[in-house]
Amino acid sequence: MSPSSGVSWQILSRTRIPSSQGPISMFPWMERNPYRKDLIKDQLGWAIGDGKNVQAWQDSWLYSDAKGCPMGPIPESEMDLKVADLLADQTGEWNEGKIENHFPLLADTIKSIKPSKWGGADKQIWLKQNSGNYSAKSGYYVALEKYHPEILAPQENSHDWIKDVWKIQMAPKQKLLLWKILHGALPVGEVLVARQVLPTSKCIRCDSSESILHLFYHCSYAQKVWELAPVTRAIVPLQVISFAAGWKAALKSTALPPVGLCKSPLAPWIISAIWTARNYQIFQKREFSAQETINKAICDAKEWEEAQSLATIKLQGVTGPRASPEADVICRSDAAWKEESNNAGLAFSFYDTRNERFFSHSDTSAFVISSLVAEGLAMRLAMECAINLQLRKVIFESDSLQLVTAIDRKANLSDLHGILSDIHSLSPFFDVVSFRFSRRENLTFEDGLAKQALRGFVPNQV
Ligand SMILES: [Zn+2]
Repeated sequence: MSPSSGVSWQILSRTRIPSSQGPISMFPWMERNPYRKDLIKDQLGWAIGDGKNVQAWQDSWLYSDAKGCPMGPIPESEMDLKVADLLADQTGEWNEGKIENHFPLLADTIKSIKPSKWGGADKQIWLKQNSGNYSAKSGYYVALEKYHPEILAPQENSHDWIKDVWKIQMAPKQKLLLWKILHGALPVGEVLVARQVLPTSKCIRCDSSESILHLFYHCSYAQKVWELAPVTRAIVPLQVISFAAGWKAALKSTALPPVGLCKSPLAPWIISAIWTARNYQIFQKREFSAQETINKAICDAKEWEEAQSLATIKLQGVTGPRASPEADVICRSDAAWKEESNNAGLAFSFYDTRNERFFSHSDTSAFVISSLVAEGLAMRLAMECAINLQLRKVIFESDSLQLVTAIDRKANLSDLHGILSDIHSLSPFFDVVSFRFSRRENLTFEDGLAKQALRGFVPNQV
């Protein structure tokens, strides 16, 4: 699911290549050149996902800039500055203060790149503009395999976590939490120290450093919570060697009959109750005992499971001509974009099976470089909202054929990379999800809403 770190063949028309390099066929040239490895590296740029793999000062990631990376002497303290360090921890969007602090002259360029909000990996892209009939693709892959095999290597665990997180019966909130944990995106002490947010990573309950593994398994508090869990095949927290291993083991245990859970495992609820208890203690100075935490996990799990069975009964009576047999909601999203200001209005609505609109929303976004990016932002926003509303079977419609095709083919579009990877990352939240093109006249309501949002947009407020 998470985008592979393969190489995009999208030609970046906005990238200016130093003319001395010229349009050279890649493979024969590399074979002859003793410095080919560095030269390959010089031609690689990055499409930003979560920014964790990209050095802000040294890598090429600013396409509209001639050099691709910021100019000027690199302050010694910022040698290792990553693009991820310029993002806000909570939202995954640009932190304007940090951008102003590090790259004041490039603020607009940076803000026009739309990073992934949901942990999509950065993608290495080929910056060189090729011409002629030479198959640079095959030559390049051969060279890459030889000199940079790590770029082609599949990402670790990229298949496992989908199975382990998305397909399991649990609430979207839990899925997000689990997903953040497995992506190293949960702001525990060690992560915050690495991002230089906190000076120390000390656990709130003991003297150990707060890592994911410590917080959820090894801390004596977590051990007590797991010991109190009324399950078969209980896990032994101290024997857990990684979060993923503990998670797998915990999923194998089932709640004992008196708990009354039949379909869903208790483990996600325990994990999220531990996280909640930790946050209450840090942010509200409220302490919960291990017993209270496990009680909360059980109550929340039961409440959710009951709500699920009620929802199923309700939906069984509803069928209609508009939606496909599987989907029960159609989402229509649209965007309005103003080229002079690079602002966009975004809008979407949800329709039920009788084609009645039951929810609408509009928003605005600044530093949007094309109408395609605007359409992508509208669709991503619609997906996030659908997840929050717990809509599980949704068809997403857009009047941008280019967007729908790009999603469908998992195309590599550098400008859209962050957004597309989010659309793919969010898809497994749904039991049924599809994306399709819809003619503009079917989206007049959303079109009007997006235009209205754009008209009322005051960029300074953003
Ligand atoms: Zn601890």
